[in-house]
Amino acid sequence: MAKKQATKPNNGSATVNRSSNGTEKKKKEEDGNIHSPLVAYSSMLSLLTFCPPFVIFLWYTMVHKDGSVAEFWDFCKQNGFQGFLRIWPKPTLVAWKIIASYAGFEAALQLLLPGERVEGPVSPKGNIPIYKANGVIAYLVTLVTYIAIWWLGLFNPAIVYDHLGEIFSSLIIGSFIFCILLYIKGLVAPSSTDSGSSGNVIIDFYWGMELYPRIGKSFDIKVFTNCRFGMMSWAVLVVTYCIKQYEEYGIIADSMLVSSILMLVYITKFFWWESGYWSTMDIAHDRAGFYICWGCLVWVPSVYTSPAMYLVRHPINLGLQLSLAVLVAGIVCIFINYDCDRQRQLFRKTNGNCLIWGQPPSKIEAQYETTNGEKKRSLLLTSGWWGISRHFHYVPEILAAFFWTLPGLFNNFLPYFYVIFLTILLFDRAQRDDQRCRAKYGKYWDMYCKQVPYRVLPGVY
Ligand code: NDP
Repeated sequence: MAKKQATKPNNGSATVNRSSNGTEKKKKEEDGNIHSPLVAYSSMLSLLTFCPPFVIFLWYTMVHKDGSVAEFWDFCKQNGFQGFLRIWPKPTLVAWKIIASYAGFEAALQLLLPGERVEGPVSPKGNIPIYKANGVIAYLVTLVTYIAIWWLGLFNPAIVYDHLGEIFSSLIIGSFIFCILLYIKGLVAPSSTDSGSSGNVIIDFYWGMELYPRIGKSFDIKVFTNCRFGMMSWAVLVVTYCIKQYEEYGIIADSMLVSSILMLVYITKFFWWESGYWSTMDIAHDRAGFYICWGCLVWVPSVYTSPAMYLVRHPINLGLQLSLAVLVAGIVCIFINYDCDRQRQLFRKTNGNCLIWGQPPSKIEAQYETTNGEKKRSLLLTSGWWGISRHFHYVPEILAAFFWTLPGLFNNFLPYFYVIFLTILLFDRAQRDDQRCRAKYGKYWDMYCKQVPYRVLPGVY
């Protein structure tokens, strides 16, 4: 029983032979959870315990200790744990106002801006979530409005940087409360049949109760937390850091320009492809709980933006040649990452009737069974990027992050934290996805693994 309770609730998209030979191992694979309950609990507890202080440590070191972990360590040696607690900013009215205005603005754009009607993938319970694809327009309106209110002197974005610690501190608390409310909503008023409890409160809180929680029919909470709050805040903060550097030094250094342009190209790509994101693991498989939502509401604005946060007080001059080289390398990586996602989507959308690298695609026709016992078929692409390795798209994703961190050069380690974190996250994700797909497609997935033997790095892993 304890073992059953500690596994992640079923949010895989389909199962194979669920009732006939439901061994514990198979059940775990169906759940997409390859980790033992012990690992699940310890990862959960460490995320709950270490992530909030890490966010504060990251901000304080970047903003007040020149990005140097050694300087922060000296501070801790002199002041002890009490010292760390003293630097932890208290949430302030200004911080709450900034967060509330931003969140309210983004929620309004999500609800009110026009957009094409898009169907998400069929859920494990056979539901098809409907979305409004207005991400690109919301992104443009957000950035234009933000720069315009600065230009017109109505609001100075440098204030956001000056109150960053308080904003992160408020986000840590606010998002935690938000996740509790999400848990209660899942318990008493789930939006669809794709919901339910694992029987364990902590697991439910951590992994989430609902796959597609909504307010009313049309306000999708995961689109808000992951895309319109999380990813959008990344772009808004990058612009903020540029403006802060400009206000402080009277210039935007080429290092800041290269890093910011690369991040903004990546985020623009994200919103351009947002409806594709709605078919990925984050949305279609992972439930809305602390793991995903807190991550998007706090971890993205703090950790993902940290390479540019570092550059605010390090106006490094790279020179034209190096700037261009890093810029081009980063853009190539972002393009390849986009093209991998695009290939998969086009292939699925056209039912394999398309050209991949100028050739008809090679493919596997896989069959699987949904949790309701319905038989379905699906196509697996085995050529193009998807014939190089089974998760090749993670390689350019990691390299792109490396290139937008590189302008900070190598004087400090901390700006590279995001790249290291992303590498661990994506290698773990590749393993999780493999397990989930094996449970879904069985022998067809094994055929794919035979044809494309490497998981991420061709020839290595
Ligand atoms: P993917 O887009 O890679 O989706 C994986 C799913 O695709 C599988 O579960 C399976 O789903 C399907 N699939 C697997 N192999 C094939 C194949 N050969 N042919 C067709 N379909 C296949 O998921 P991710 O969410 O991991 O990645 C999406 C994007 O987000 C990537 O660009 C990634 O780099 C990025 N990303 C960024 C992160 C960040 O923090 N910066 C974190 C995670 C991702 P099905 O059940 O439909 O068959």
